[in-house]
Amino acid sequence: MAKSFDKEPFPSLRLVRANRESPDINGKFVLYWMTAARRTTWNFALERAVALAQEFHKPLFIVETLNSEQRWCSDRHHAFVLSGMADNKKFCEARDLRYYPFVESQRGETMELIEALAAHSCALVADDFPVKPFTQDATHVAQRIGVSMERVDSNGLLPMRATDRPFPTAYSFRRFLQKTLPDHLLNLPKAKPLARIKLPRLRGLPAEIRRNWPPTPSKLLSADTSALSRLPIDHNVVPARLVGGPSAAGKLLKQFLRRKLAAYPESRNHPDADGTSGLSPYLHLGHISAHEIFVELAKMQKWSPTDLSEKATGKREGWWGMSQASETFLDQLVTWRELGFNMCFNAKDYDKFDSLSDWAKKTLAEHESDRREYIYSSEELEQGRTHDRIWNAAQTQLVREGMLHNYMRMLWGKKILQWSAGPAEALETMIELNNKYALDGQDPNSYSGIFWILGRYDRPWGPERPIFGKIRYMSSDNTARKLKLHQYLDSFAPE
Ligand SMILES: Cc1cc2nc3c(=O)[nH]c(=O)nc-3n(C[C@H](O)[C@H](O)[C@H](O)COP(=O)(O)OP(=O)(O)OC[C@H]3O[C@@H](n4cnc5c(N)ncnc54)[C@H](O)[C@@H]3O)c2cc1C
Repeated sequence: MAKSFDKEPFPSLRLVRANRESPDINGKFVLYWMTAARRTTWNFALERAVALAQEFHKPLFIVETLNSEQRWCSDRHHAFVLSGMADNKKFCEARDLRYYPFVESQRGETMELIEALAAHSCALVADDFPVKPFTQDATHVAQRIGVSMERVDSNGLLPMRATDRPFPTAYSFRRFLQKTLPDHLLNLPKAKPLARIKLPRLRGLPAEIRRNWPPTPSKLLSADTSALSRLPIDHNVVPARLVGGPSAAGKLLKQFLRRKLAAYPESRNHPDADGTSGLSPYLHLGHISAHEIFVELAKMQKWSPTDLSEKATGKREGWWGMSQASETFLDQLVTWRELGFNMCFNAKDYDKFDSLSDWAKKTLAEHESDRREYIYSSEELEQGRTHDRIWNAAQTQLVREGMLHNYMRMLWGKKILQWSAGPAEALETMIELNNKYALDGQDPNSYSGIFWILGRYDRPWGPERPIFGKIRYMSSDNTARKLKLHQYLDSFAPE
């Protein structure tokens, strides 16, 4: 293993050819289609596009797109992504780089635009992200264009293609990481792939592009409500207070490392302590990279790769050779987060009830017809109208802020299982509410969290209970006893 953060050659496991076409050296530019790693730093796909542009002596053209008229598109999600687009535009304009933000006003326009641009390009580089609408769109475009298209994985510290098997537990995945990660850990993306590059300038765009797919106007980029109101998206899910974008993400990371990390192991579970990073929406939308977070943490810890333990025991602490707080945080950021990517990448039915393990499906089926003291409709749940104040507070936080505290998320899901007509209905409700309201929704970890409620990554628990069977149970009373949540309840479910 290399001994420092020096740049290694571009990691081949990060890159896959998406079609069999060749590059067209007569094309006008190399096209980078940004959809998941929505940032200009620490981005393998951008780095690859720059390398191709240098190889072909062509300009680089970055197009960042945002789909509309798809399930869960809303003012909230759009506003968050648009703030990131505004950041990226500012960054590129300051460096005289060609960046084109595009927001669909109807379904299909993005793919048409990319196909039209590909016809003028030498080659296309796209992000790789393992959740369905993204994979489907990229596959569709790859089949329809006449130049080579590559997909590049900038998602986590472990390349998704480092293994082709989905791991059933965090323990087995952690053990695998401890054996495998040293080979990948130092193969970092460039922090500044656009710095000091010399590329020809792209003079103009074909007129048909601007005419048929005009770039996002500044009013929409600033998430102006009247501009958003013209899009075919859900206007009832209003923008959250949290502002999106790489710039906000960078500030949040600094604050977390400086002010919260030391107390993270103790405070992360208490909603009143506000002890977690709050980075998940930014990680989800690619406004920040897991590599950047890791490197900043490692620098703060004065960590070197020689600090890694040589023993892959699968234990949560002791492997990284960092402080306990850092290791607890890395276990979430790396083990738990990338476990979700591992599942979505390797199990195509990751979002289907049937993807649960046999023991979980069996026990849930055995208790499907158990009597339920409460059954709430999806509307009652959505509006937070249950008998349980803690649950209502969690649902209100989700609807109001687009965020939900991790511990509350677990309780939130367990109660949906308990109060739904059956486990399949519970699954549907969780997916709908999570992805509709959460800024980090539609992420691989939306599915790992939601399926964890139903037993994924877990073991059978006793005693066997009504409705849950051997699935881990959680109670609101116990949560109230264990957690500091007075202020939380006052904010989200005042008496
Ligand atoms: C029912 C349910 C639904 C969930 N839905 C989502 C979702 O839609 N999107 C999402 O990103 N996470 C989801 N999670 C996982 C987890 O709750 C969030 O990642 C975490 O609360 C994010 O807060 P944070 O950024 O402050 O985390 P921190 O504690 O600061 O952790 C740092 C990062 O590690 C990752 N992480 C932390 N906890 C987990 C976890 N349990 N599983 C996987 N990754 C984790 C996240 O990327 C997070 O940003 C869900 C969990 C459950 C139980």
